[in-house]
Amino acid sequence: MRITGLPPYDPTNVFAKILRGEIPSKRIHDDAFAVAFHDINPQAPVHVLVIPKGAYVSHADFSAKASDAEIAGFWRAVGKVARDLGLESGGYRILSNMGEDGGQEVPHFHVHIFGGRRIGRMVPRAEG
Ligand code: 5GP
Repeated sequence: MRITGLPPYDPTNVFAKILRGEIPSKRIHDDAFAVAFHDINPQAPVHVLVIPKGAYVSHADFSAKASDAEIAGFWRAVGKVARDLGLESGGYRILSNMGEDGGQEVPHFHVHIFGGRRIGRMVPRAEG
């Protein structure tokens, strides 16, 4: 069944647990609006996740409900994390999966930062 609309936020999701410090992560950034940590299953030499501190399910939820300060603070953190990782000279990719078609697995809004090699096609060809 196709999911329609925005599901309610589930405070037991794995990134909520990481935010609360209930499970460990390799945290590389923490400020008033965002936390960044290394992905547990990296898809590139550098693969970092940036998440807002607020309880937002996805980018759809975040862009609709977050305050201007939260949105600005979050995206500034994404830029700072990439800069601090030394990715600006070689370049990098940011990506956020949203919902079923987007392939989102963890229902707390997050942005992936990939770098350290040529990342390849922008979007893979359709499967099957
Ligand atoms: P999504 O498909 O939702 O955009 O991506 C979820 C990402 O979270 C995946 O890349 C996955 O490897 C990562 N992930 C899932 N569980 C954990 C965890 O417990 N710790 C960390 N650091 N990353 C996780």
